[in-house]
Amino acid sequence: MPETVTMEKIVAFCKRRGFVYQSSEIYGGIRSSYDYGPLGVELKRNIKEEWWRRMVHAREDMVGLDSAIIMHPKVWEASGHTATFNDMLVESRTSGRRYRADHLIEDATGREVEGLSPEELTEIIEGDERIKDPADGGRDFAPVRPFNLMFETYTGPVKSPENIAYLRPETAQGIFVNFKNVLDTTRVKVPFGIAQIGKSFRNEITPGNFIFRTREFEQMEMEFFVEPGTDEEWHEYWIEERFNWYLNLGLSEEKLRKREQTEDQRAHYATRGVDIEYNYPFGGWSELEGIANRTDYDLKKHAQYSGQRLEYFDQANNKSFIPYVVEPAVSPDRIMLAFLVDAYTEEELNGERRTVLKLHPRLAPTKAAVFPLSKKEPVSTIARELYDDLKGDYRIFYDDSGSIGRRYRRQDEAGTPFCVTVDFDTIEDKQVTIRDRDTLQQERIPIQAVRERLQGLISG
Ligand code: ATP
Repeated sequence: MPETVTMEKIVAFCKRRGFVYQSSEIYGGIRSSYDYGPLGVELKRNIKEEWWRRMVHAREDMVGLDSAIIMHPKVWEASGHTATFNDMLVESRTSGRRYRADHLIEDATGREVEGLSPEELTEIIEGDERIKDPADGGRDFAPVRPFNLMFETYTGPVKSPENIAYLRPETAQGIFVNFKNVLDTTRVKVPFGIAQIGKSFRNEITPGNFIFRTREFEQMEMEFFVEPGTDEEWHEYWIEERFNWYLNLGLSEEKLRKREQTEDQRAHYATRGVDIEYNYPFGGWSELEGIANRTDYDLKKHAQYSGQRLEYFDQANNKSFIPYVVEPAVSPDRIMLAFLVDAYTEEELNGERRTVLKLHPRLAPTKAAVFPLSKKEPVSTIARELYDDLKGDYRIFYDDSGSIGRRYRRQDEAGTPFCVTVDFDTIEDKQVTIRDRDTLQQERIPIQAVRERLQGLISG
């Protein structure tokens, strides 16, 4: 029986194998900031590359963008973030701790209260349900108040109000403000999308659950511009497309579901929102990705605040319109946590226990390891030549220390899907053994064929 995966196990594993470290650890660490180690950075890059490949390179109706983190402050006025990008904050007078009011109530009562006003939330907290401070059981809270999640900074040497700038809380606005640039400089035609990957920042009141909710994170967002009236159909399309992306990369179907956002949970401008949720080991189903119908809200607002025409001219039908927008938005950090949890397996093998990370070959940080059975000539030279031939396109690992069994275990834990062993027979028959991480099947093939064989196995 495989053992249940807990967050403690995953966090310890990520540290031990160099996937994720606490940031600034030598100084005692800083809460909710993490650094991606040698294996973690490969896994996260592979996630982003798979997204980009499927969203941009494999399509005719998509272009990419990389916009700045610091934008004109008017962008955030127009988008509504300055006024309304708030979480409801409540402070306990007994412990001094601060909580997100919606989370505090939901955890205590199971009631969904997203979207309620500060007054309504205060009333619930002070009401019959007698919400307690999880830290000390206290029941004395200050009134709930909105708290803006944007990080503020200043541009230039003078810290005056007119120099205030923000670290972007979403990458999407960089896409909307470049809508006209892309229309004018490329040959895109509606329906088309603009995709972007980059860092976002939110001063979350209660970050937590490892890399699930942090104050600095990456986002992969895509804005798909469509003719009004076709938006609902496209929304359906993108929900399916994104859901299938996870399945194709091997995420367990029974741990993945779609959930319709309620009116209270939806952003005020969205007509419909669907979350793709994953059943994480902390507290169950949680949002992995959100797919929203943002309507023409953002383009209209930016047109209004900038005084520019942000319309699309449809030459075929000789008419102009402001497109509607369908947006899939997700963080590769959250995706990485889902894939790690999903892939992490402790199992019994020939009377021995092994930990194995059953990641899809496309996501695996290291695609293959090369093992010479002996450190001596000519086995080591043949192995080294094979390694030199394979490296470059992918991360390949060369390991000549310890027993073969131990070398396998190390690669199993790192999620390496294929191990290639050069042995004494190789000298004569010019063949090597490829071992599959999951099935443990071994196949003997000519050394000349390894490169092509691996390519097939990884992309298949
Ligand atoms: P939540 O309700 O969990 O705070 P949200 O609904 O505000 O999230 P969106 O604004 O829809 O989140 O953000 C889009 C995506 O960005 C989310 O689905 C998630 O993958 C990611 N994301 C948002 N906030 C964070 C964060 N603090 N840390 C990591 N990823 C995040």
